[in-house]
Amino acid sequence: MHRLIWLVMLVALLGAFAWAMAQTGEPSPTPAAVSPTPASGPPAAPGAGRQPIAEKIELTCPVCGAKTPGWKITAFVSSGVDTDFCQLGASDTYYQRMIATCPVCGYTGYNDDYPPALSALTPDVIAKIRKKIPRQFPLAQLEPWDRYSILAQIYLWRGKPVIEVANAYLRATYTMRGLQYGRFDRRQERELRSLAIKHLIKAQEAAQFPLAEASQVKYLIGELYRRNGEFGRAIRYFEDAQKIRTHPEWLDEMIIRQTARANAYDDS
Ligand SMILES: [Zn+2]
Repeated sequence: MHRLIWLVMLVALLGAFAWAMAQTGEPSPTPAAVSPTPASGPPAAPGAGRQPIAEKIELTCPVCGAKTPGWKITAFVSSGVDTDFCQLGASDTYYQRMIATCPVCGYTGYNDDYPPALSALTPDVIAKIRKKIPRQFPLAQLEPWDRYSILAQIYLWRGKPVIEVANAYLRATYTMRGLQYGRFDRRQERELRSLAIKHLIKAQEAAQFPLAEASQVKYLIGELYRRNGEFGRAIRYFEDAQKIRTHPEWLDEMIIRQTARANAYDDS
């Protein structure tokens, strides 16, 4: 019975968070299978059976014209969703492949941020990318989360909706999921998560989410605060999510569980 509840909940989660998929400009990879996961929060165990179907493609950088290697993801098999809506076990096979980074100038985007889908960048944006990206980021050895940070920065310069900036910072943290890394990167993860929170709040204030998802977004902000160890704020957002009368039933169980974790000072 419990397994069934989890399955229903995860399917609901995937559906409910369709906006996160829709923001990429990619053909939305449809989860072909969902497995129930234990209530304790499943580790992202790498394994077979969840490899996205992807093919290598070549893009042309709209800033410097260099050939840029990318991926076209045609299908995605999910092994489950974490409590912050991160697809499990999908850092290298999915999140890292959603974006392409020019090896020369660092320009980063989803496939739709490259020609022919992108007609042109303004001269002002091109100038900022050329001048500032090489100073702000170690282009010779970019980590996956650096690439999403570049994407967020370029989206801010391009004046893209803040919801897409939030999504870039959120995915930056998703690329770290399941990796072993040191204290410095843990701090970096929290900084990126703080930026995701900041822009999610802005996007919500600007009514960029569908109204029906208001409770899920409040829950998500609460969960990101909890993961950053800001338990008081986390609990307030969980309460706000609960108060929205139209919140879906499956969210109740998650709010109860994650509120209990926040009350126990659990930031894992
Ligand atoms: Zn370039």
